[in-house]
Amino acid sequence: MSGASAKAAFERVALIGIGLIGSSLARAIKRHGLAGSIAACARSAETRAKVVELGLADSVHEDAGAAVEGADLVVLCTPLGAYAALAEAFAGRLRPGAIVSDVGSVKAAVIRDVGPLLPEGVDLVPGHPIAGTEHSGPEAGFATLFEDRFCVLTPAPGTNEIAVERVAALWRAVGSRVEIMDPLHHDKVLAVTSHLPHLIAYTIVGTASDLEESTRAEIIKFSAGGFRDFTRIAASDPIMWRDVFLNNREAVLEVLQRFTEDLTALQRAIRWGEGEVLESLFRRTREIRRGVVEAHQAGSFDPREPEKAGTAAPARGKAGRPAK
Ligand code: NAP
Repeated sequence: MSGASAKAAFERVALIGIGLIGSSLARAIKRHGLAGSIAACARSAETRAKVVELGLADSVHEDAGAAVEGADLVVLCTPLGAYAALAEAFAGRLRPGAIVSDVGSVKAAVIRDVGPLLPEGVDLVPGHPIAGTEHSGPEAGFATLFEDRFCVLTPAPGTNEIAVERVAALWRAVGSRVEIMDPLHHDKVLAVTSHLPHLIAYTIVGTASDLEESTRAEIIKFSAGGFRDFTRIAASDPIMWRDVFLNNREAVLEVLQRFTEDLTALQRAIRWGEGEVLESLFRRTREIRRGVVEAHQAGSFDPREPEKAGTAAPARGKAGRPAK
């Protein structure tokens, strides 16, 4: 990488998987001079060619083992289902003292699946940037994706504190606010704030697509009534989301059970004309939205678009908006 900083936080960062999140991290690391060099690993020749074309890394590899060679930080940026096989492939090539991290949307499974594969002297510091869009691939990434977004780190108890702080410093340097959290707690919180909303969106859009042709055409035509916001979420990567649900099974099933009960209660209120039940819930949920706005987490998660906290966002550009 040209302009490698003398005070770079890491000598060599290996990004295993370089789609939306991996390429955004590569861009941000480059912009802030946080690594002496960047190695990228992608499985398809097409993605590797794109990484070269976009100048995202100093070396591009098909083999994860070759990518991690000499790296003091390795960040898994693939869907969660690929982690174990990749860690198995590169574990023997890690340099002593290296830190392994990731960006996956579920955390306890990372400690369970990747932790045991790493050699003595290598620290695992799992991470989850709460930032993203519904777009995929190296072209979808951008350097400012993580600015003013939270990044949650979930090290297992006893993890080397220096390693945790080095990873935290990297995320802070790319503009994120870092929180340390217990991995199971992270998975419960995200089951509510991210995984359940995605499941609901996938369900609603799936139900609509099962309707007969004439109704379907009108759903598209009148989608601004609310449906279009669900279609954005339901456009998120199928493999990534398959892996999120398979790896956060318990927490998602628990919150889904609560949701189903609450939905049944609403169904009952509508059936029996209990307007006060509906109104009281809708008033309460409006307050939640106010809290989200006040915490500056409303509106766009894509910093290239103007944030209009608390109001409907303007027409979307190519990159879409919000996050996971
Ligand atoms: P993405 O754009 O689809 O990129 C995935 C990358 O992983 C690609 O480079 C892909 O290579 C590679 N890959 C996929 N399967 C692989 C395999 N079996 N072996 C080796 N490489 C493989 O995905 P993303 O949105 O960046 O998501 C990556 C991770 O970030 C996921 O774990 C997700 O949970 C987490 N995350 C995503 C978001 C979001 O909004 N998207 C937000 C926060 C966290 P090819 O292109 O060659 O297939």
